[in-house]
Formats: sequence, C-alpha cells, structure tokens
Amino acid sequence: MANEQFDVTVIGSGPGGYVAAIRAAQLGLKAAIVEKDKRLGGTCTLRGCIPTKQLLMSAHVYEQMQHAADFGVQASEIQLAFADVQKRKDKVVMKNSKGIEYLMKKNSITRFNGTGRLALPGKVEITGEDGKKQTINTKNIIIATGSVVRPIPGFETDGARVVNSDHILELKETPKSLIVMGAGAVGVEFASVYSRFGAQTTIVELLPRLVPLEDEEVSQELERSFRKRGLKSQVGTRLEKMEQSDKGVVVTGKDGKGQEVKLEAEMLLVAVGRMPYTEGLGLEGTKIKVEKGFIKVDEYQQTGEKGVYAIGDVVPTPLLAHLASKEGVVAVEHLAGQKDVRPINLRLVPNCTYCDPEVASVGLSEAKAREEGYEVRVGKFPFSASGKARILGEEEGFVKIVSEKKYDEILGVHIIGPHATELIAEACVAMQLESTAEELGRTMHAHPTVSEAVMEAAEGVHGMSIHI
Ligand SMILES: Cc1cc2nc3c(=O)[nH]c(=O)nc-3n(C[C@H](O)[C@H](O)[C@H](O)COP(=O)(O)OP(=O)(O)OC[C@H]3O[C@@H](n4cnc5c(N)ncnc54)[C@H](O)[C@@H]3O)c2cc1C
Repeated sequence: MANEQFDVTVIGSGPGGYVAAIRAAQLGLKAAIVEKDKRLGGTCTLRGCIPTKQLLMSAHVYEQMQHAADFGVQASEIQLAFADVQKRKDKVVMKNSKGIEYLMKKNSITRFNGTGRLALPGKVEITGEDGKKQTINTKNIIIATGSVVRPIPGFETDGARVVNSDHILELKETPKSLIVMGAGAVGVEFASVYSRFGAQTTIVELLPRLVPLEDEEVSQELERSFRKRGLKSQVGTRLEKMEQSDKGVVVTGKDGKGQEVKLEAEMLLVAVGRMPYTEGLGLEGTKIKVEKGFIKVDEYQQTGEKGVYAIGDVVPTPLLAHLASKEGVVAVEHLAGQKDVRPINLRLVPNCTYCDPEVASVGLSEAKAREEGYEVRVGKFPFSASGKARILGEEEGFVKIVSEKKYDEILGVHIIGPHATELIAEACVAMQLESTAEELGRTMHAHPTVSEAVMEAAEGVHGMSIHI
C-alpha cells in the first residue's frame, strides 16, 4: 500500500470525514480515509449523536409506559432494565459504525487504521497501533480530526463519581442523584435522560438561562417544563469547587447575587465544552494557522497550505455533525474543481437539542434580529392549541417565527415541543428558499399534524392564525 497515490486522503472518519470521502468517490476521485479508532464513525456515531439519542429514546419509552393509563392502556410493574438499555444503545451504535464500513467498501474508499500525520508536500504518514509506519502519496488532504472533551481545572473527572460525556454513556447503573454542570445541548440531554431514569437531577449553568444560545422565550419554557418534571435548574451560578463526600460529590459556588450555592449528589457530570483535536497531526512548521486550537479555513474550507482542507469540529464553526458533513462536501467539491461550489451559510445551520421537550432553531433569535437592526415581526403558536399535540399528550411549547417587516423574510424559527427537531427541517427549507412568512403560512399542511403549528405561527406573523 505504501507509495500508493490518492487524489484525496481524509484524516478522521466522523460525520465530516466519512461524508467527504464518499462525495470524493462519487466525483470519481481515488479516496483514502485514515482513522485511529478501531471503529469508524467518530464522536457522532460512537460517543455523541447516536448513543445519546438512543438513551433518550429509552427514557421516552419508559416515561410513556408510566403514563400509559392516560391513553387507556393499563400497564403494571414497569421496570427499567438499565443493562438492556445499554445493550440496545451499543447495538445501534455498532450497526451505524458497520453501516459506515459498508459505505467505505461500496464506494471503493481505501481505509487505513492508524494515526495520520501530515508529511507535506503531498504525503500522509500513518502510524498503526503496533507502531509501524507507512506513508501514502496524496494530491489533497482533508483534516477531519474532530474534537474531544475539554478538561476543566478543579473539576477533574475520574470516570466514576465525576464523569464526562464519554463516561456517562458507559454507566453500569443509573445514579440516584446527579448534578449536571453546563446547560448546553449535551448537559440538558443527559439531564433529561437520567432524571427520567429516576436520578434526582440538578442542572447548573453559569449563564442566566438554560440552552443559552437559544431564543430567550425557549429557555424560559424549557426551565418551566423541567421544573414541572422535578428537574431542578440552578442558572446564573458559577461552580468554583468540587470535593468528594461520603455520598458522592459536593460542589460549591456562587449564584448571580453572590450567594453561596452548595449541592451534593452521587455523581457529577461535567458537560461544559469540547476542544478541537489536532494532537500529533504535524501542523507545526506548515502554513496552516491555528487559533485557540481551531484550524483556520476560508469559505471553501482551505487551510493556508494549498491542497490541505479542514472541516468539522476542528474548525471554528458550531460543533455539529450535520455542519461537519456539509463542510466536507464543500471541501471535496472545491478540490475536485466543481463549478459553483456553494460555501456554507452559517445562518442556516439548524440547532437541535433532543431533551424533553425538544428544542430546535434556525436563524436569528428575536433579540439578535433586533440587535442587527431589523424591524421585527413575530408569529407564535402554542402546541396547547394543536389537535395533534393533544392526541400525543405533549401540549407544552410553541413555534415562534421571527420575520422582518420590509420583505416579510423569515429570519429565524424557534421551536420547543413535540418533534421540534424534525419540524425544524421545514423552516430550513423555507429559509433556504428565502420564503416569506406569508408564503409559509399559505402552504397547506396536513391535518392533524404538529407541523400545522409551523403554518399557524407563520400566519400569526400577520395576525392570521386560525386556532388561537
Ligand atoms: C454527547 C454528545 C452528543 C452530541 N450530539 C449531537 C447531535 O445530536 N447532533 C449533532 O449535530 N452533533 C452532536 N454532537 C456533536 C457531534 O458529535 C460532532 O459535531 C461531530 O461528531 C463532529 O464531526 P467531525 O467529523 O468533525 O469529528 P469527530 O466525529 O470527532 O471525528 C473525528 C475522528 O477523527 C479521528 N482522528 C483524530 N485524529 C486522528 C488522526 N491523527 N489520525 C486518524 N484519525 C484521527 C478520531 O478518532 C475520530 O474518529 C454531539 C457530541 C457529543 C459529545
């Protein structure tokens, strides 16, 4: 295999890397993928999107079963079999990883198991687990090495009582009580899983609200919803110290008013951030610029070295799987010399949080739109007025559409409630096609569906909602 010549070599097989390799093969390029992990799929498949959503699904089923009587179904002795929850999660993760292996073979992509290192110009050195090195020749390189958990000084994890998002996926038992540090997507999702599995859960956030990147009204609704479910939120609180106790872990800090906060639980999940991973890549001495750990790229994902691209969590755009994939496509189409390669429009990246109730958004929040000087109009429709939401027994939340007055263009869509993470795709399409709020409101939506709430919110921009 050594001295083999490739058109493109992708380092890392996460949703950025493997999608880039497939698009390269589709365009007739000879592609290679280098992965240091035994399994393909990266963070997304092995430690991120897929396993977390499977745990969330089990938590949802467990909760639904407990409320089966509300639907006229008597179910007794409902028990959580946590070992089986974990088995199912592992099975689904494995199936997805195998699916990627299959796609690599189907597209004739050469797979190298080992750690890739740039050996410019035009070479990648691969070190196998046994330490053996080989070098391959390549016209282009795509760096897709992703991110890893960021350690927080003073809150060092031990994998037992103090855990990070990797550890908590592998628990053998559910903790009786849990403190979650960080109320971003990862924090609220795990809080949502383990509180439904029975853990007394408190979520602590430094900023003044849960999911702080979302529209303010969404954060308020989520906090209300969590409170109703017995999930405590301690926002605007800086945790300063962590100590082990007989029961588990004690954390102390200060709230926004300077009052001392002290919390104790069997387990602490540190869910505050990730950092780009470029260790051992050999960037030193190259023209590739790194800022705060992230690789700097232009709109076509090109680094400072000709023929070297970077995509996904390792570049300074939001850390999301779907964005990594699309960046991979842009990089490959550019290096393949395709015409009309369209750089990513970062305004149209959907954000989804799969907690209960789900949260999803695209575009500008109301506050941000006003900050940017738009004359804003808002349409809002609550799920409590949706027939389908009543059927589901999931009436919390709303759809909020932020548009601007001059052209009626939709600037942002914010959803909290049933199937929010699916519904947001409609908003993405509407915004991609530069739809007006009126056009979205005039688009016929099937009845009864939760998507009618999107239509009604769009109608609401012009005060024309029917069902409120
Ligand atoms: C708990 C959790 C839940 C998440 N849920 C979601 C979600 O629901 N939706 C969403 O969009 N995003 C989610 N994310 C984020 C998502 O997982 C990442 O944005 C995504 O995986 C980034 O893809 P990537 O291809 O850039 O890198 P990664 O998926 O991190 O893959 C990088 C790969 O490169 C390999 N690698 C690194 N260095 C080398 C090297 N030198 N040689 C060879 N191989 C190397 C690594 O082993 C890894 O397999 C979640 C993340 C976490 C942690």
